[in-house]
Amino acid sequence: WRNITVKELADAVQRPLEDIQEVMLYVKDADDIDPSARLEDVKVIREIVTKCGMKSRIVAAPDKEIHEEKDRDVVPRPPAPPENLKPRPPVVTVMGHVDHGKTTLLDSLRGASVAAGEAGGITQHIGAFTVTLSSGETVTFLDTPGHAAFSAMRSRGANLTDIIVLVVAADDGVMAQTREVIKLAQDANVPVIVAINKVDKPEADVERAKKELMQMGLALEGHGGETQVVNISALKGTNLKELAEAIVTQATLMSLKSEYSGLVEGVVVESKNDKRRGKLSTAIVTRGTLRKGSILVSGQAWAKVRALFDHVGNPVDDATPGTPIEILGWRELPLAGDIILEVESEKKAHSVIRWRENAAQKEKAEKDQEAILKKEQEHLEKYIAAREARRLAGRFKMRPDGPRQKLYEDDPTPRVNLILKGDVHGSVEAILDVFDSYNEHDKCRLNIVHYGVGDITEGDLELARTFKAIIYAFSVNAPAKPPKHVTIREFNIIYRLIDDLKEEISKKLPSVE
Ligand code: GDP
Repeated sequence: WRNITVKELADAVQRPLEDIQEVMLYVKDADDIDPSARLEDVKVIREIVTKCGMKSRIVAAPDKEIHEEKDRDVVPRPPAPPENLKPRPPVVTVMGHVDHGKTTLLDSLRGASVAAGEAGGITQHIGAFTVTLSSGETVTFLDTPGHAAFSAMRSRGANLTDIIVLVVAADDGVMAQTREVIKLAQDANVPVIVAINKVDKPEADVERAKKELMQMGLALEGHGGETQVVNISALKGTNLKELAEAIVTQATLMSLKSEYSGLVEGVVVESKNDKRRGKLSTAIVTRGTLRKGSILVSGQAWAKVRALFDHVGNPVDDATPGTPIEILGWRELPLAGDIILEVESEKKAHSVIRWRENAAQKEKAEKDQEAILKKEQEHLEKYIAAREARRLAGRFKMRPDGPRQKLYEDDPTPRVNLILKGDVHGSVEAILDVFDSYNEHDKCRLNIVHYGVGDITEGDLELARTFKAIIYAFSVNAPAKPPKHVTIREFNIIYRLIDDLKEEISKKLPSVE
């Protein structure tokens, strides 16, 4: 933004050149502003923009390179036709109250899955894993317990979880977080399977736990409802197979299906910088088949897939929907919970990332601008209060309790009553400053009945009628049909407003021969 010309600034903020020049007269105290004059001081530019009362799009002026259709962001594809869909494994999240056994359950399940994967029994944590039943069916578990992860993903638009396993310790029963999970599942419309845990403990009271769950509105199987309940011991590995089977039953009921062809879509489950292998993410493909060489974008990160590993670390050639996969080849690390989309070329990936960076920058600039406007607003309020105090101290000292109008009745000096409303305090302040200089005019007084930021209100009209004041509206909305005897003058250029006021003043002055 160094060395931007006045004309370029006007274009960038989409305001007429004369508005900018107008404001510059106040900011820079110059007489004549050449459109090709260069502005060097960022502070001055900022001030001009704020005084102009516009949302500053200055930091995020439209990136000229990005305006063609082909340079747009990518979005998920529209739903696939039903005939393209094939069954996929369910994705399950384990939730429940603290210490009820979520981690233990995941460890046991993961241990079983690793043994089955014959990877030397090394349990590595990659954020998700798959359990294969003897029937050949598979279930994918997200390896981060707790509902924080679940909520974080949903807040980013990723509805990855098909089924929630709610762990309830039989010796403890329904607790605060148990209730939260039930509520969360209901809100998100995700089915629940209850795992009543720690049944190996002598204090275990399964029936009490069930009763409490039903009191929470969970309609349990065997008690007139459909929510499946499995009694387990996560520690001893009891009934884990039954739990997996219950999940498969639920999944069959839901008839979970995905398209296995076309551009890949997925969700990032976990991301890390691996010292040996580099930037790695674990993802779950939700659509299409991921292969080496695919170009992916996720948030503001992109990858050319160099290698794929399954959940036990074996290199694989592809990944289909519902299976966790480790992806190697990210240039930046994508964020957990972000959606992954495949694009057709590296070039496309670059333009998507640029588009997204641009959008993020714009969003930030808007937030910054809001903060600036808020600060300015506070500043103006102080200014107004101080001004009001000055005015009261000066003009009303003599008659602190009398109506203002009275004060002038015995004052023969002609006066113009006015109300000023502006779009932002920057403009209001600038105009008030000019008014102040006229106020010293001893042949005619300016009586500013009221001023402020915002559109013309009923209150303003009322005041105008009472004081026979002219309403000056600077770049704000005014009623199309003002009431009788109320004059509203609308302007969006300061010097035109001042010119009009001068005219009003001269009308009041005794004509000089
Ligand atoms: P989380 O906070 O829900 O992840 O709970 P943890 O998995 O960390 O378990 C909390 C405690 O309960 C640990 O000391 C576990 O060993 C114990 N625990 C978990 N499952 C069982 C179980 O089935 N039986 C018994 N006796 N203890 C268990």
